Amino acid sequence: MINAEAGVLSCNAWATRRRTIHFLRRLLVEIWGHESPAGKSTPELVFGKGMWYRDGFVSFCEGHSKIELARGQRNALILIHEVTHALGHRWHNDAFIRRHLGLLQKYAKYEAGMIAELAEARGIRL
Ligand SMILES: [Zn+2]
Repeated sequence: MINAEAGVLSCNAWATRRRTIHFLRRLLVEIWGHESPAGKSTPELVFGKGMWYRDGFVSFCEGHSKIELARGQRNALILIHEVTHALGHRWHNDAFIRRHLGLLQKYAKYEAGMIAELAEARGIRL
């Protein structure tokens, strides 16, 4: 998660609802079809243990080819975070946040006004 935004982003019930692997795979294929460079195959999506980070297991993206969602994080919001990594944004920098917010607005039913406010608060142009 992007810490500063986590609270605000979690207010979207559609995006934070727990989903099946089938639902999330379908969403991944949809996003990937529109957003990925041509010819790049869709990352594998699995439900797993996740990776230990600080004080718990977290979801992760391995290279650009595998996304693993940990327990309690199997929703559209977390999937889209990991998809942003898979699309080539390795670090949580401004480019990552710009892309992430754009994807949330497009695929996870976030209101444009809220996304614009989050971006502005970070001095990021969408
Ligand atoms: Zn991340």
